[in-house]
Amino acid sequence: MDLVYKRILLKLSGEAFAGSQSYGIDPKFLEYITAEIGSLVKVGVQIAIVIGGGNIFRGIRGLEIGIDRATGDYMGMLATVINALALQSALEKLGGIHTRVLSALEIRQVAEPYIRRRAIRHLEKGRVVIFAAGTGNPFFSTDTAGALRAVEISAQLFIKATKVDGIYTDDPLKNPQAKFIDQISYLDAINMGLRIMDHTALTLCMENKLPILVLNINKPGNLLRAVMGEKVGSLIK
Ligand code: UDP
Repeated sequence: MDLVYKRILLKLSGEAFAGSQSYGIDPKFLEYITAEIGSLVKVGVQIAIVIGGGNIFRGIRGLEIGIDRATGDYMGMLATVINALALQSALEKLGGIHTRVLSALEIRQVAEPYIRRRAIRHLEKGRVVIFAAGTGNPFFSTDTAGALRAVEISAQLFIKATKVDGIYTDDPLKNPQAKFIDQISYLDAINMGLRIMDHTALTLCMENKLPILVLNINKPGNLLRAVMGEKVGSLIK
């Protein structure tokens, strides 16, 4: 089967990095995701990745411990840099995959600054690009950063990696009656209040006609099946 999507943006949550742990980075997940990403590199997919930071720090948590929201959000963005460096190291060391981290906050000693044209150049050369530090602005989420970067680099698909098989009418881990939704429009996803991603991210995708595929990242082969156009997960378009 031919490649249906040649350039994708993959959004990985910080939670995925924690694997079976409640905090930090699970080496087993790094090993697993390296193999999954490697299978896409092998077939020539250009891959950009946006990483969350929820396994280390979320801005909203700052409020609970007396840190103002904006500062907490910057801490959250720095947490995504830690995950980005871990993933870069795993991709290069375990997978032999050339990877560049581009950060929305300047930390030149550890990552290149985000420059759109440079990101595209890296992708064209077959390197995996990891976008760190979200959008670089507080009060945003890494889902929004994912949508923004995906649109900027003209990705053909935004893959939102989750731990369930796709979109459901309710949380399937809590409600066994929750029904699977195979395909849905952006507007319905927003109006039904489905908690797939925040409205800013959804709106950005809608306005730029960028399809979103919500899939289970913990099922081996799902990423490859998705770029080959096989039916996997739920599609928002
Ligand atoms: N964040 C931010 N601006 C951005 C992206 C992220 O301020 O553009 C902060 C925000 O505090 C967020 C944290 O970084 O809580 C980590 O990102 P997120 O919670 O989206 O990660 P995930 O839920 O995917 O692990």
